[in-house]
Amino acid sequence: MRARLKQTIRQWQGVFVTAPAIAGLVVAGSLTGVFQQMEWSAFDFSVRLRPLEATDTRVVIVTINESDIQRFKSWPLSDAILAQTLEKIEQQKPRAIGLDVYRDLPVEPGYQQLAKVFQNTSTLFGIEKVIGNAVGAPPALKQQNRVALADLVLDADGKVRRALLSVKLEDGQTRLSLGTALALKYLEADGIRLQRSNSSTPNALQLGKATFVPFQENDGSYVRADNGGYQILLNYRGSLENFQTISLSDVVANRIPAGLMRDRIVLIGSTAESLNDHFQTPYSSSLSDHPLRMPGVVIHANIASQILSAALNGRPLFQVLSDPQEWLWVLFWSLIGASIGWKLLKKNPFRQSIFSSTTLTVIAIVLPGSVLVGCTYLAFLGGWWIPVIAPLVAMSVSVLTIQGYRNSELQRQASLDGLTQVANRRYFNEYIERQWYRQVETKQPLSVILCDVDHFKLYNDTYGHLAGDSCLQHVAKALGHAVRSNDLVARYGGEEFVIVLPNTNNETALQVAERINSQVRALQIVHEKSSASDRVTLSCGVATTIPNFTSSSPNLIATADEALYEAKQKGRNCAIGRSVVF
Ligand code: GH3
Ligand code: MG
Ligand code: MG
Repeated sequence: MRARLKQTIRQWQGVFVTAPAIAGLVVAGSLTGVFQQMEWSAFDFSVRLRPLEATDTRVVIVTINESDIQRFKSWPLSDAILAQTLEKIEQQKPRAIGLDVYRDLPVEPGYQQLAKVFQNTSTLFGIEKVIGNAVGAPPALKQQNRVALADLVLDADGKVRRALLSVKLEDGQTRLSLGTALALKYLEADGIRLQRSNSSTPNALQLGKATFVPFQENDGSYVRADNGGYQILLNYRGSLENFQTISLSDVVANRIPAGLMRDRIVLIGSTAESLNDHFQTPYSSSLSDHPLRMPGVVIHANIASQILSAALNGRPLFQVLSDPQEWLWVLFWSLIGASIGWKLLKKNPFRQSIFSSTTLTVIAIVLPGSVLVGCTYLAFLGGWWIPVIAPLVAMSVSVLTIQGYRNSELQRQASLDGLTQVANRRYFNEYIERQWYRQVETKQPLSVILCDVDHFKLYNDTYGHLAGDSCLQHVAKALGHAVRSNDLVARYGGEEFVIVLPNTNNETALQVAERINSQVRALQIVHEKSSASDRVTLSCGVATTIPNFTSSSPNLIATADEALYEAKQKGRNCAIGRSVVF
């Protein structure tokens, strides 16, 4: 039982070493942010791919579009037009109104009229901008503390994926963002108020069914993001089409459908392309012909809608894994990749299989890759943003590494002699051929030593074939010890070995042969019936030449063979050297 366990562990050693090492590298890479952009792209793709949600009827957007600007022939719209618009909206009795138009300065005519509307409309919020180039609030609203933030948080690639809920100002006051202020005002009517959450997470807030957890700088695939203020990941409902809309001209012209705005949130903002209040979002695919940009007012509507849906309907807010959980996730997929690579390629199945090794590798990556992508997408639909690129990279690299390792192992096995574990004849042939032509260029002497065990047939006959095998193994080992690191030892056949000595003259090669002989004698393998000695001995033929194009390596081996024959003739247990010019 224990032995079996040990054997299994040994067999899977490659997997247990490779997978954590690769997972470690991938995690280190993701900590530096190399995957951030790709993870964002995957996130954006999931946002675009998921089924469209129904229109949020609780939020109405009064759009200021190109034709409105054309009609009123002025931008900014005068205070009188805004005052008129707000009065018409107020008549519909919405729960909250958000004016997503800067109005820090008077735009006559109608300043006094608008100031009055501002004062009298208790559900109205105006905007200011506090981050970067600040823009002030409408003074009349500021007095009444009905100002919210228009600021949005942009990611490094310019896209809005986070919702800023609030910011602590320098004077210590907390200022809500426009979407948040409107949503909270809306929920007030339902008796739902923001409370500290009982959850153990610091700064978690409870609002109806929703628990908000502030965004941290390394949440999801973010790496050292700016987490100033209170932010959450923005779970978009959709674009302009996912909200009820009406144009400003229609409002002014009294063309508001009955009850459209009653008990709703109403946002007024520009959607006109020329006004340039547009932002990149996950919906802005760089792959599409027209990278869609979203008007700021629609983003505020999304934030308000997200808060309402979470608080009232329990629609999921995005959740992320902790850092250690993400590391385990990467390790898990690395292990999957390494295991599949190991299993699939273990028996070298492509020999008999209809698939080529490349096809198998592709399958080994694509199959688990699809499962991974499918899992993370399903999790995404459930509100979990889980890394997909980092585990995908870890898994693929693990498959490739294991395959590379196994291929090199197979190649190594294929070039070794099974009994003696020195190079085999096939490898020797290739090697000497290569070495020959290499040395044609360098004009250095190339030597080979051919060794043959003396009276080996007799040895077999006396001690048995198994003893013969063991003897060959010992001799091969001794050869390995006797030669230099640059020399190649190979089994030439039967009880014959060959050594290739690059850049070696005959004298030195002969010295190596003598050393080989003495090392083999030092093995002290008894061979009583040998006429050469009472121990196992070798006879060696050494041949040296400077390779050229007119000759080839078999000629050099033939010369070594002649020298070996001479050594046998001379009584065995010796070495004979020959230098030749072809
Ligand atoms: P010489 O001194 O002239 O070389 O005599 P020899 O008996 O060594 O030469 P011969 O070529 O007559 O015999 C070689 C023997 O080596 C015959 C063969 O059975 C044996 N042999 C070849 N390969 C193996 C092997 O892998 N294992 C064992 N045990 N014997 C082998
Ligand atoms: Mg022989
Ligand atoms: Mg022999």
